[in-house]
Amino acid sequence: MLSNRLLDITPSVTVGISSKVSELKSSGKDIINLSIGEPDFNVPEKAKLYGVESLNNNETKYNLVPGLKILREEICKKLLEENNCKYSIDEIVVTSGAKHAITNTLLAITNPGDEVLLPKPYWVSYSEMTKIVNTVPVAIETSKNNDFKLTGDLLKKYITPKTKLLILNNPSNPTGAVYTRDELLDIANVCLENNIYILADEIYEKICYIDNFVSVASLNEDIKNITITINGFAKSAAMTGVRLGYSASNKEIAKGICAIQGHLVSHPSLTSQYIGYGALKSCSEDIKEMVKTYKHRRNLLTKKLDSINNISYIYPNGAFYVFIDISKIKNKFKYDKSLSVEFCEAFLDKFNVAIVPGLAFGIDYYIRISYACEENDFLEGLNRLDLFLSQIMNS
Ligand code: PMP
Repeated sequence: MLSNRLLDITPSVTVGISSKVSELKSSGKDIINLSIGEPDFNVPEKAKLYGVESLNNNETKYNLVPGLKILREEICKKLLEENNCKYSIDEIVVTSGAKHAITNTLLAITNPGDEVLLPKPYWVSYSEMTKIVNTVPVAIETSKNNDFKLTGDLLKKYITPKTKLLILNNPSNPTGAVYTRDELLDIANVCLENNIYILADEIYEKICYIDNFVSVASLNEDIKNITITINGFAKSAAMTGVRLGYSASNKEIAKGICAIQGHLVSHPSLTSQYIGYGALKSCSEDIKEMVKTYKHRRNLLTKKLDSINNISYIYPNGAFYVFIDISKIKNKFKYDKSLSVEFCEAFLDKFNVAIVPGLAFGIDYYIRISYACEENDFLEGLNRLDLFLSQIMNS
């Protein structure tokens, strides 16, 4: 007899697709994988050296629960200089990835039955994480006309006495949309007026192609006090497997998170923490180069998309995804339950290209394509998409 908790949880669709791709590849198929949310770059060399050196110095014993002091100092410096947010080191908790920082936060601030607001489309794991901690995910219907961005007025409609937290992902996975300062202020003021915490997932903050990325916690002191900023090294420094992230919050919340983390994991791997420290200390040029490449790819990809009939998409200003509307084919493509799931399955089977169905993010009739891969791969993937769509429309 397993926990009832499991009855309600769906395994990650993106992880499921990755496993299927590996299976197909090992059976000899040549698959173009545009489904992954993982940089195709390696960890910058200079960052690796910090990890190697720490091992050579036998930095392998238990250490502080919230993370290495030097790393938290460096994170505070980064938050101040780059995000205009002044935090002290006892407000930072270093975690084994951003996922871990988010679950820590949910455990520290919610009670069973609390409602957690998720603007749609939302990153796959948010809804399942909220269910794991026995809170209730409440999806907010946003509008395509506004690039699926939340607004203060829309938010008000979803608030109940049980609402505890809003999860806001900026830049967004899967749309790549980026909020302006005014848009964030509008949303954050509604949260402030209604005693709702904001979990600001800013993991794609550095992968932003417009100049004025704004952190929620930088808006003002009152807003900062109700905001838990989540960030990590996986996307910006190409360290998905290093598993390193952090939360920045007020002291009370940070203390609560430490109480939980201390019992569950103590602290993230020290080697990972040193690699992260190295990334902050000496890899800003490597990171800038990666972002330059993503931007170049974004430009190529959107140009190609503009030439494909029967689709439209949200123009991505950040992250490395594009969210594509395929609703025009819905009367032409035969499906039983979900257009996007069955479309993606057929695309993989017939054209050997893996992409992610919009349903994984709460919205059917869309697909997500990642451009964290070689140019030739996504351009060829789009050629095949064009062909598949033409076949469907002409059928
Ligand atoms: N938040 C978002 C929006 C993400 O897309 C991801 C990774 N796909 C994460 C958090 C998790 O990051 P990490 O690998 O650091 O746990």
